[in-house]
Amino acid sequence: MGEFKGFMNYRRKALAEEDLKERLSNYEAFQHRFCNEDASEQGARCMECGTPFCQTGVGVGKETVGCPIGNYIPEWNDLVYKGQFKEAYRRLMETNNFPEFTGNVCPAPCESSCVLSINSDPVAIKGIERTIIDEAFEQGWVEPRTPNHRLETRIAIIGSGPAGMTAADELNSWGHNVDVYERDFKPGGLLRYGIPNMKLDKAVVERRVELMEAAGVNFICDVEVGKDISYEELDEKYDAIIVATGARKQRDLKLEGRQSKDIQFAMDYLTEQIQHQFDEIDAPSITAKDKHVIVIGGGDTGADCVAMALREGCKSVFQLNKYDRLPDKVDGNPFWPLQKQVFKLDYAHAEYEGAFGQEPRAYGVQTMAYDVDLVGDLNGIQTQVLSQQPLTDVTMEDQERYFKADLVLLSIGFEGVESALPKAFQLQLENNKIAADEHDYKTNRRKVFAAGDARRGQSLVVWAIKEGREVARSAHKFAVQNRIYS
Ligand code: FAD
Repeated sequence: MGEFKGFMNYRRKALAEEDLKERLSNYEAFQHRFCNEDASEQGARCMECGTPFCQTGVGVGKETVGCPIGNYIPEWNDLVYKGQFKEAYRRLMETNNFPEFTGNVCPAPCESSCVLSINSDPVAIKGIERTIIDEAFEQGWVEPRTPNHRLETRIAIIGSGPAGMTAADELNSWGHNVDVYERDFKPGGLLRYGIPNMKLDKAVVERRVELMEAAGVNFICDVEVGKDISYEELDEKYDAIIVATGARKQRDLKLEGRQSKDIQFAMDYLTEQIQHQFDEIDAPSITAKDKHVIVIGGGDTGADCVAMALREGCKSVFQLNKYDRLPDKVDGNPFWPLQKQVFKLDYAHAEYEGAFGQEPRAYGVQTMAYDVDLVGDLNGIQTQVLSQQPLTDVTMEDQERYFKADLVLLSIGFEGVESALPKAFQLQLENNKIAADEHDYKTNRRKVFAAGDARRGQSLVVWAIKEGREVARSAHKFAVQNRIYS
């Protein structure tokens, strides 16, 4: 498997990216696939590991790192090494419904557990995955997953993010009649209205939606379940209902002056910007153009705000992070490896883009007060250094630092699910998430299942795909058995 000692013959290569100046001048996706020759060379670096931790995962419980969907990584690495891209594509599709999403935005926990990463660079697994699926689309190998036979069963899926899309793709391919209800204008969830176009081209999302429609999935957009259509109506019409509504309740920073129009949630900013870019709304109500912007919060949402504000033409953007750059612990809990990998990528992204003619980020800094004047305009924010460790960007003289700001974007995480739908459906919650069994995804209500961020809290696209696949199996079993025995 792979080239004997290939890892000693070839260095890891990164995917090519647009030049920084060029990429900041537009909203286009800035990363590109490998050419086939480079992908083969990278595939050659894969060793014949007895146990492929990239695929199986390594560690215990929450500490486990590896591919959540168990992609057959060593196998398709080998096929790519041999130039057998079509076979590699077939093998990849056995475990991943949407490699074009993960190939673009996954933080690649598989690479963190690649044995080569112990004392060298891991195999470029994500880049190889991206290349396989891009090649498959370019060669016309990707076709709608139309079922051979239609069943009579009807299944409703609420929410069209990656969890809902995956469940729909699976259930439809097995013959169920699938309706996906979505309150936004278009399907995709955070793939469309959260993650910016620079990281995931919306044409990639649209292309998959069109394939699913061609296969028979029915997307019903601009409909909020629980408000425009009731639980009783769905219960009457469907054999099973899957709730995949995400975890969009944003955490707030309620200091005096919070009501200022210049202090906004990051997600509202990102969503409006994306809708505006694609002519779905006229003018966004929140803009960073010609403003001094402070992004409070250091995760991927914050990094996306930095990227978006730079492209909009802000005067400056500064991102504040409560934690040290790569801490050992977060809120008293160990900083587990995948978290470290995600943080590293977010930091790299924001620092790299933000370093261009801008002040970079600050770590170990807490916001203490908003400076809002009598008419409600924001002037700046007052911060305090929390960290006792040496800081990269903020010296200890800056213990209390004032930042001038015309716009603050709050990106300090998500608290869990919005309450309207669980209330309308009388679903039990656990830690602000929909309570559903981790094996069969059943909620407290008969016929109702929950998956994705709605069940596990804000997470990653690859976990949404995993839960979408598993909830589909459970809903399928339930719907079919119910028809047989009723
Ligand atoms: P969502 O994608 O949130 O989709 C839920 C859908 O349900 C939405 O479309 C919503 O409109 C709909 N809905 C909600 N309520 C109703 C209702 N009552 N009726 C009808 N429809 C409803 N993950 C990565 O792996 N890599 C990244 O780079 C990355 N970047 C991110 C950037 C941002 C800004 C954010 C916020 C998240 C990011 N994530 C990333 C996380 C990832 O996007 C989520 O984990 C994933 O989208 C969760 O999928 P989901 O299907 O469970 O929920």
